Amino acid sequence: MSSDVLIVGGGIAGLTLALSLHQAGLSCRVFEAAPAFKPLGVGVNLLPHAMRELTELRLLEALSAVGVATREIVFCNRFGQTITTEPRGRFAGYDWPQLSIHRADLHAVLLAAVHARLGEGAVVVGKRFVQAEQNADRVTAHFDDGTSVHGAALIGADGIHSAVRRQLHPHEGPPSYQGINMWRGVTRAKPFLTGASMIIGGWLEVGKMVVYPIRNAIDAQGHQLINWVAEIQSPRNVQQDWNLAGKLEDFLPTFNGWRFDWLDVVALMQQAEQILEYPMVDRDPLPFWTQARITLMGDAAHPMYPRGSNGAGQAILDARVLAACLRETNDITTALQSYQAKRLQAAYDVVLANRTSGPDSLLRTVHERTGDQPFGRIEEVMSAAEIEAIGEKYKRIAGFEREQLRQRASFL
Ligand SMILES: Cc1cc2nc3c(=O)[nH]c(=O)nc-3n(C[C@H](O)[C@H](O)[C@H](O)COP(=O)(O)OP(=O)(O)OC[C@H]3O[C@@H](n4cnc5c(N)ncnc54)[C@H](O)[C@@H]3O)c2cc1C
Repeated sequence: MSSDVLIVGGGIAGLTLALSLHQAGLSCRVFEAAPAFKPLGVGVNLLPHAMRELTELRLLEALSAVGVATREIVFCNRFGQTITTEPRGRFAGYDWPQLSIHRADLHAVLLAAVHARLGEGAVVVGKRFVQAEQNADRVTAHFDDGTSVHGAALIGADGIHSAVRRQLHPHEGPPSYQGINMWRGVTRAKPFLTGASMIIGGWLEVGKMVVYPIRNAIDAQGHQLINWVAEIQSPRNVQQDWNLAGKLEDFLPTFNGWRFDWLDVVALMQQAEQILEYPMVDRDPLPFWTQARITLMGDAAHPMYPRGSNGAGQAILDARVLAACLRETNDITTALQSYQAKRLQAAYDVVLANRTSGPDSLLRTVHERTGDQPFGRIEEVMSAAEIEAIGEKYKRIAGFEREQLRQRASFL
């Protein structure tokens, strides 16, 4: 079966690619290192550009049943004062929603669809890729259990520690830590504000928080599962492990005063069911992803700071564009070059924007202009036009400006 596309990694990118290739009428198999999929991680956000692709994969209903359609983002300072409220998804006139969802729920929906559409054998677990070799006719993937498999193309969708990337760029070194550490948690709590609000507040020197619900009505009392992320500037550079347990005492003191009449952040943290610690890391842009029959996608290609809700979204866009390029021509190397030409710069523009000028950079401006003090009227600190310009610029860079998205032809 050397006409198969071999996908290394059964995460969000790999599974979306499998579904997209199937939609394009192309065969593939996914090779995942983990011996079994476990419900890992916490919340992710899918913006309308990603939701459009998932809708075109006929997954809107299944995803909407488990996630929360985000209604608005409230940007605030650490005193709980609202800087601006921005409607999101359909509430902002988009044709697609913004969905806040547990990563495990997103993964489960994708995996169930792969099993139903491609068959149970399409995803092989317990296969850790170690190396590939290629010639003019095929590519061969070798796994750590001593087995090998041949295919027409090999796609590295193996995440931030990608072994495929390491083979293409052996001298790159580890992801770069720039001094911001994160603690992520989930807590069962009563809905706050609209029940579908996302909060982004504070700023790094004094603590920054992101809070949003990811599961509705999880019990008879109407509790939601609330996802939160605490970010602090810190020299701690812990290992990058999605399952590293975090300790409350390491970050709670920074958020001591965060008890607003509309949300008790301190209680939310104290009552967490699970806390994970992860450093904010990304990688510098690469000159290329494609080498003949091999290419990279998702976090393997462009890990980014989780600042503009684009990590999963950009991986999904990669999958759709890559499947379209592979459908367009039988010449694999041409298809993979064309994919790189369409996606590399676009994805790196998001990586670089997330470092300095992501949508939450308005928090930095407010923090600096107020000297970290409560403000009287926000208009005296930042004009509405200035605030809007930051958000709109990021939407254009990341590919989810409303009219641009509505008018763009389908990738596949
Ligand atoms: C367990 C886990 C939990 C996560 N939790 C969150 C979260 O809570 N919030 C968030 O924003 N992001 C989270 N992420 C990251 C998020 O999924 C990605 O940033 C984004 O969705 C891009 O997905 P990806 O498929 O490129 O990478 P990933 O989702 O990281 O998937 C990569 C996949 O490749 C597999 N893999 C790795 N090495 C090999 C190998 N050598 N051979 C074969 N397979 C390999 C991994 O096991 C994994 O399944 C998590 C990732 C993982 C793996």
